[in-house]
Amino acid sequence: MGLEEKLPSGFLLTTVEKVAGAARSASMWPATFGLACCAIEMMATGDPRHDFSRWGMERASATPRQADLMIVAGRVSQKMAPVLRQIYDQMTEPKWVIAMGVCASSGGMFNNYAIVQGVDHVVPVDIYLPGCPPRPEMLLDAIMKLHDKINNSKLGAQRVQQIAELEEAKRRR
Ligand code: SF4
Repeated sequence: MGLEEKLPSGFLLTTVEKVAGAARSASMWPATFGLACCAIEMMATGDPRHDFSRWGMERASATPRQADLMIVAGRVSQKMAPVLRQIYDQMTEPKWVIAMGVCASSGGMFNNYAIVQGVDHVVPVDIYLPGCPPRPEMLLDAIMKLHDKINNSKLGAQRVQQIAELEEAKRRR
């Protein structure tokens, strides 16, 4: 009997997915930008006290082409929305988005014409983080939850899900 017949069905693919998930979650590079007050807490998450470099994130990327994590830290104005989308489009695949704070998640207290009422109208969001502003510990918790999501995701499934979420966001507009 050959090796393939001895192994349980899907053994090789599952292992590759687990290795890919572990490698991706252990080396996420966030794009460097902040939109409003939440960005101060995001910056504090990289300080020695909180130290997100423990998860391979110390290399915040000034170019979106070398980033795979977008932390939307703050309210998104209508004028900034196309810029944010362009940055997202320039990021490498696979890529992930955290909506940090109530403003990025839903518009928050800024229920007016100038502010996008949730960044998921512009880009697909993987994790919504409540708070005004969320503390660095909360952002670290969101990052841990994103790690779990990445570690348990199937290869190639993310893109299909992102397209479906964007179509859904367009319908809701
Ligand atoms: Fe500022 Fe609060 Fe909005 Fe964050 S959630 S951008 S701290 S107003």
